[in-house]
Amino acid sequence: MKHVLTIAGSDTCGGAGIQADLKTFSAQGTYGMSVITAVTVQNTQGVFGCQDIDPEIIQGQIDAIFTDIEVSAVKIGMVSQIATIHAIADKLEQYQPKNIVLDPVMISKSGFDLMQPEAKEALISRLIPLAYVITPNLPEAEVITGMKINDLASMEQAARMIYEMGAKNVLIKGGHLENDATDLLFDGEKIVTLQSDRIQTKNTHGTGCTLSSCIAANLAKGKTVEEAVRTAKEYITTAIAHALDIGKGVGPTNHFY
Ligand code: PLP
Repeated sequence: MKHVLTIAGSDTCGGAGIQADLKTFSAQGTYGMSVITAVTVQNTQGVFGCQDIDPEIIQGQIDAIFTDIEVSAVKIGMVSQIATIHAIADKLEQYQPKNIVLDPVMISKSGFDLMQPEAKEALISRLIPLAYVITPNLPEAEVITGMKINDLASMEQAARMIYEMGAKNVLIKGGHLENDATDLLFDGEKIVTLQSDRIQTKNTHGTGCTLSSCIAANLAKGKTVEEAVRTAKEYITTAIAHALDIGKGVGPTNHFY
């Protein structure tokens, strides 16, 4: 069984963050491990607070894993502040794991800043060059590139810009497009578009976390980037179709049905 690590934030209600990542790793038949970067106070109705973990403790967690266990893929999620980003980047440069999947988490669906806006430059200069795959949604790709993105042509232009920043493969998620939810994958040479029907449900909490960890798990299992992305897209589509109507707000995706 392959071992996969998530470096991300905790979501109290178990729908997003570390909890979604570990459920996805298990559902994909991999062994999940976690380095916690921040603890959010959160339920299906929103994020109400956040405690960042001390950068030294983040580095200690990373050391604890890499000095002991083989890691076949790493997913990076919520990195709330500049010091968090530098702490993680320093350690990943030291240990040089394969298959780093970066989900550049910025704002929750409920509107909470999961990454402080001033951390953007550090994300671009330290983490994007380490990413084997990066998975921004449209608003995140807009922040990273500074351009307006509203169709496939602008998605392609943004993917090329993010590739130039150092990510080896760029998956721009089209969930925020007006009509269909086409995603676009660029590997530095070819563009692949991935189509899927939009599922009508309010329960989409944790979709981005689930998709990126599913990509990481499948890279760990030896799939190519395109295969891993296609598998993850199918997985998230089914997990949304079976989403759980838990709580009073936006319910989580369902990993086991
Ligand atoms: N909480 C944590 C810790 C996250 O990492 C994320 C997304 O990456 C969220 C919340 C946001 O989840 P959503 O926007 O799907 O509600």
